[in-house]
Amino acid sequence: MNDLLAAGEERGLGDSGREALRRALAAALDELRRDCRRGRPRELDDSFWSRVGELLAVAPAVGVRPVINATGVVLHTNLGRAPWAPEAVRAAAAAAGGYAVVEIDLAGGGRGERAPGVAAQLRRLTGAEDALAVNNNAAAVLLALSALARGRKVAVARSELVEIGGSYRMPEVVAAAGARTVECGTTNRVHLRDFAAALEDPEVACVLKVHPSNFRLEGFTAAVEPAELAELCRAHAVPLVFDLGSGVLGGDDLPGTAGEPNVRAALAAGCDLVTFSGDKLLGGPQAGLVAGAAPLVRRLRRDVLARCLRLDKSILAALEATLGLHALGPAAVRRRLPALRALAADPAELHRRAAALAARLAGPGRSCEAVACESRVGSGAAPTVLVPSAGLRLRVERLAPVELAARLRRSEPPVIPRVQDEAVLLDLRTVAPGEEETLVRVCLDALGAT
Ligand SMILES: *Cc1c(COP(=O)(O)O)cnc(C)c1O
Repeated sequence: MNDLLAAGEERGLGDSGREALRRALAAALDELRRDCRRGRPRELDDSFWSRVGELLAVAPAVGVRPVINATGVVLHTNLGRAPWAPEAVRAAAAAAGGYAVVEIDLAGGGRGERAPGVAAQLRRLTGAEDALAVNNNAAAVLLALSALARGRKVAVARSELVEIGGSYRMPEVVAAAGARTVECGTTNRVHLRDFAAALEDPEVACVLKVHPSNFRLEGFTAAVEPAELAELCRAHAVPLVFDLGSGVLGGDDLPGTAGEPNVRAALAAGCDLVTFSGDKLLGGPQAGLVAGAAPLVRRLRRDVLARCLRLDKSILAALEATLGLHALGPAAVRRRLPALRALAADPAELHRRAAALAARLAGPGRSCEAVACESRVGSGAAPTVLVPSAGLRLRVERLAPVELAARLRRSEPPVIPRVQDEAVLLDLRTVAPGEEETLVRVCLDALGAT
């Protein structure tokens, strides 16, 4: 290895550091040994070194790097949720690589508002008086509660005191914002009179409505409609904040999003502030967006946490570009935002792609078939909706499916499949057509065919 490291450095492959070169060499050697074992002797020749160069290019010294998502979960939190549109990638790269117009008044030369273009886009798209963007939706809710209810109380339906993954638990978020939770109603049934009783307490400074996300209540249940709750809140001059989560802006019915509440409708129903994520059904970078009444958004901007939770210039640029695509209308959204394009993909077309790939992967000792399967939206949006899809079902003789899946995940780039019905399943809804050649190379290798 020392000799190879020296040789690699001599060939100019040392720019990412010795450790990165060592890892690329180890991976290339693994491939070479495997070829030799399969009766295809290879040398440490130019093709070896060009493979080392390739591995260095795709896998720099860091762990955050591209993977192929073959899970069929479109907004996969562990895989970074929404892929960005090329427009967003370009805008972020341009802002990141130099100075950027972030918070400057170009007319006067002094300090200006931070990213006024983002707020303007959000106003136009949601119909809200004002808007603000912070680090993520969890931060948006924390900031709203801190600004409106610190030192006072927040009324929440018992049925909406949910935990949304890990440490995001509503009662704890309220406490972290320096407020106390007032629970309204029972676990299964919450009525308007429960909120009316809570609002008799002058310490209650806001009412919080939470989209229960990946949790559903069925059977003998009752909930209060946003419009009714908004009317009650208005009568008590207490703001209503709706943590909407998934961020469907309005109107257009994307596949898999039927029944998801949308931002425009929530504002039209009278919610004073609506919060949602940038990287769920908005299809952009990780961000938390707050849209609503101008005086309340102003209070959020002035809160002590606003500075702690603010966005970086590159994310602001990507967000503005993403919102710009939404402004072009539903057709552009489906065509140009990768996550929404994946959700809108036609199962028949996915089946055609799966059949073509299956033909290329088939061979002795293994089976590769194109099959129908079901995708999910992911990230707590429309949790019960299954979107008809198509993919590849892979099996290899004398190799357990979990082992084959682990091989795919250990490839470079990693391929993340599902294991289902005693086979490995690659759902093509979340694999971009441009990723197919790489997918074929990784699969052939994992299937022992190269
Ligand atoms: C996803 C979600 C959150 C958390 O949003 P992040 O952008 O991941 O911070 C909060 N509330 C609801 C209802 C959600 O669906």
